[in-house]
Amino acid sequence: MQMIHEGQCGMCTHFGEHHPASEQLVQIRTSKQAPVDYVDECGRNEDIHLKVTALSGCDGFEPVGSA
Ligand code: SF4
Repeated sequence: MQMIHEGQCGMCTHFGEHHPASEQLVQIRTSKQAPVDYVDECGRNEDIHLKVTALSGCDGFEPVGSA
């Protein structure tokens, strides 16, 4: 497990946003920790089906609950 912080995909509203949040994703957001190999879709880049890890990040970051 790895700590995740503001600005990283695991804390971003676009991380897995087009499917209901799995129990594991809820847990990642609550605990602010994620397995290094946890991968989900970035909803902001849906057209290219971008997959990112919870530890990834980009300038399009928007915190969960802001949308
Ligand atoms: S790639 Fe950027 S927009 Fe997509 S989930 Fe990660 S931080 Fe959010």
